[in-house]
Formats: sequence, C-alpha cells, structure tokens
Amino acid sequence: MELAVRALALGYNGFAVVDGLDFDIPRGGYLCVVGENGSGKSTLIKGILGLISPMSGHIRLGEGIGRGGIGYLSQEMAVKKDFPAGVSEIVLSGNLGRAGLRPFYSRTERTEAEENMRRLGIWELREHCFRELSGGQQRRALLARALCASRRLLVLDEPAAGLDPLVTVDVYRLLEQLNRELDLTIIMVSHDIESALKYARAVLHLKKPAGKTVNTQCFFGTVDEYIKSDTGREFRVHRSS
Ligand code: ADP
Repeated sequence: MELAVRALALGYNGFAVVDGLDFDIPRGGYLCVVGENGSGKSTLIKGILGLISPMSGHIRLGEGIGRGGIGYLSQEMAVKKDFPAGVSEIVLSGNLGRAGLRPFYSRTERTEAEENMRRLGIWELREHCFRELSGGQQRRALLARALCASRRLLVLDEPAAGLDPLVTVDVYRLLEQLNRELDLTIIMVSHDIESALKYARAVLHLKKPAGKTVNTQCFFGTVDEYIKSDTGREFRVHRSS
C-alpha cells in the first residue's frame, strides 16, 4: 500500500471538518477526490502532507516515502503566473523538502531535475523566466518540480485550474503517462470531474450527510463503480449542468 487511511478525522481547533475516512491506495494507484466546496478535500490533502495532525485515526504512507517525500502541486502555485524565477530554478526547488538547509543542490538532484524537465518537454525552456511561459508550460514546470520532490507519490490540488480545454487535456494526459510509466501514485483533487474520471482509477467522494455537521466519505471505489453509483450519477449531472 502506498497510502492507508483508517478511521481518520481531521479538523481545526478541535472541530472536525471530515471524519470516518477509510481507504487504501496501492502503489501506482490514481485517486481522484471529489466533493462540493467545503467538503474537506483540501483538508484531507493537508493531512496527507502532514501539515495538520489527525484528530483521530491515522494516515500511513508506503515504506520509505516519509513526509518530505511527497510531490505537491498546490492550487496557489498553479495559478501564480508571475513568479520571478527561472524555470530550472523552480524545478530544482522541488528538492528543497529533502535538501533542508543545505545551500546547494547535489549532482544527483541536478541530473534528476534535468531528466524531469526533458520528460515534461520543457528542457528547451530551462533558461526562460517562469512568467514568460504559457499556462500549459508553467503547469509542466510545476509538475517537473513536484517530480523532483518525489518519484513515488504526487498530491495535486486542481492541477488543471485556469487552463483552457486543450491544455487541460494535455495536463491530464501527462499525469496519466507519469502514472503509467513511472508507477507513480497520484492523488488529485479536481472539479473537472468528467476529465478526471477519464484517467483516474479510483474515486473518493466527500460529502456532508443531511442533518450532519461533519463531512464524511460517501463513496470510495473504482471509477466504473462510481459512474454507476447513485452518488456518482447525481454529482456528475449536477457538476456538468
Ligand atoms: P474543500 O477543499 O473541499 O473546498 P476545505 O478542506 O478547504 O474544503 O474546507 C473544509 C472546511 O474546513 C470548510 O468549512 C472550511 O471553512 C474549514 N477550514 C479550512 N481551512 C481552515 C482553517 N485553516 N481553519 C479553520 N477552518 C478551516
């Protein structure tokens, strides 16, 4: 298992936002987390990244991953277009979680960054300033950065936010390719549920049951099961209307 979540409750200042989470993701799995605004998707991501501690239950990462070993693409990063740094600098900074206070990058880190830039088709752009790149190129650079942090587990919050439809397809295809070729485990929050379901293999749907104050897991299973489920049908119709 690359991620095992058991009887998990997460929240802030002693108040649970989401509880009763129970699911596993195998190595190389691809999970899409969906739910209305405020259903706790970002809170779950913070829990997985270790930014907040469980109120109860636990999150177990696959052996050898460690908290610094998760690649992360946040919503904020995805929409920050005017970052005043060079592309290779941004990609290399994915190593910072592991490098600690060391003021330089190792040869291995530089070689891996190069490989990641080539893999994502931005090697030719390495000397450019990030803010000169198109939205799609910027997203590729941020994915290369996330890969520098981890070749095992990527956590992505709205990876296609703000991109036009063609570039959105490009980003989802890239993720699918990374998932397949590197056996990389992906956990992704997405509002773009139709596209996400095309490529992800499992779905976790968070929801606040009627009359309750805390969100919980109302569906966890494969994409096929989700599409046939009442929850999936209702949510997809609602989303696309
Ligand atoms: P989603 O990502 O599904 O939109 P969030 O996880 O961001 O949902 O938020 C779930 C709930 O947690 C919301 O009611 C939100 O107000 C609350 N929340 C989020 N962050 C904090 C925080 N730092 N402190 C207190 N409450 C928060």
